[in-house]
Amino acid sequence: MRRAGLLFAFTGILLAGFVPATASAAPGFTTSMEAFEPGGTISRVNVNRPSSDRSAAPQRIANAAKVTPIETNGPSESTFDLVFVGDGYTSTQMSTYSQHVRSSIAALFAIEPYKSYRKQFNLWQVDVVSAESGVTNDPTQGVRRNTALGAYFWCGGIERLLCVNETKAKQYAAAVSDVDQVIALANTTKYGGAGGGVATSSGGNAQASQIVAHELGHSIGGLADEYDYGTCDTREPREPNASALTAAQMRERKAKWHAWLGKPSPDGGTVGAFEGSRYCKTGMYRPSVNSLMRTLGQPFNPPSTEAMIAAFNREG
Ligand SMILES: [Zn+2]
Repeated sequence: MRRAGLLFAFTGILLAGFVPATASAAPGFTTSMEAFEPGGTISRVNVNRPSSDRSAAPQRIANAAKVTPIETNGPSESTFDLVFVGDGYTSTQMSTYSQHVRSSIAALFAIEPYKSYRKQFNLWQVDVVSAESGVTNDPTQGVRRNTALGAYFWCGGIERLLCVNETKAKQYAAAVSDVDQVIALANTTKYGGAGGGVATSSGGNAQASQIVAHELGHSIGGLADEYDYGTCDTREPREPNASALTAAQMRERKAKWHAWLGKPSPDGGTVGAFEGSRYCKTGMYRPSVNSLMRTLGQPFNPPSTEAMIAAFNREG
């Protein structure tokens, strides 16, 4: 898929994600990432990462990667191309990798509106072969594995933050001609992942697939995070699921999700304007008590679902 909104969303992530290290800083770079706790709690954290997380891999390796089109539903121009790459799978573990890709896809497309709009996706599997099986710092810190994408837990000192060399992940993914979102699956059952230009997820942990569902909320729907920790800015945002307006102000101005106010929300309550959203504890509102943009395992709320479907229909 190629469209301005999507590119804008990715550019936003990239700009937010990569702050160049200054000359006086230690080698490496600082990046803003999303971290996910087993209970579903999400937070955005600034992480110092080694320069090796961005080093380039020889292009010929990416070109040699085997590509399997798991599902092709339309031309790349009008379809969202989801590209899986794997890490910590040896040459004899490619069937395990395939199983992990397929279970991640099954978990993603069990969630609405992905379920109803599956035909808007092309799904690709790129085989990446690692010298060693598993993930660095799994199960404990200090365990080292020699893998193609260098996946490791305890990224930035956070146990569940699973980082990979993003340059290498993108180079392998580039074996597919059009890439809208790269998902790096790591060969582990330990829960973890990370959000950003390359989303990471534990290949052997079904719960980790929720990370992909959340990240696609950003990249497809242009949705805001609805949790309330991080760097707060209470100016009216462009995202459809966050607002500085109260419910009364929305009604009065016919703004944001005013048409949904009072309607049922799949998380159990009704749509309203709930304070605490988009990294702000006060002065910023979200449409429902809880949602996938606030906590993994929750459904999208109606205004977010509407934005996702509008994005699918624009491409359909
Ligand atoms: Zn997010």
